[in-house]
Amino acid sequence: MTASSDRSHNPIVIDDELCIRCPLCDIVCPGDIIIRGERTKIDPPVVAYPAECWYCGLCEQSCPTSAITIVFPDRMIDPPLTFADLVDGR
Ligand code: SF4
Ligand code: SF4
Repeated sequence: MTASSDRSHNPIVIDDELCIRCPLCDIVCPGDIIIRGERTKIDPPVVAYPAECWYCGLCEQSCPTSAITIVFPDRMIDPPLTFADLVDGR
């Protein structure tokens, strides 16, 4: 797990060298956010709907080669403390 300050970042990073195209991440993702490659055993999976990921961690936990890293936004790690912060987007 890592954190990012980019508000529109990709929450799922897949290491192409480690990925064996199994494709468990596609199977377990409850939101169909990760989609297996067009040629399942050749193409790596694609993070098709990154903005819809809710960071459940199933893909990362299920990957047999630890090819997936979930990158949490900073605002999830260090959320706004006041309503004013929240409105201002600080
Ligand atoms: S679960 Fe891991 S190894 Fe399998 S397709 Fe997804 S990223 Fe690749
Ligand atoms: S963290 Fe959960 S919702 Fe997000 S891509 Fe992985 S399995 Fe899907």
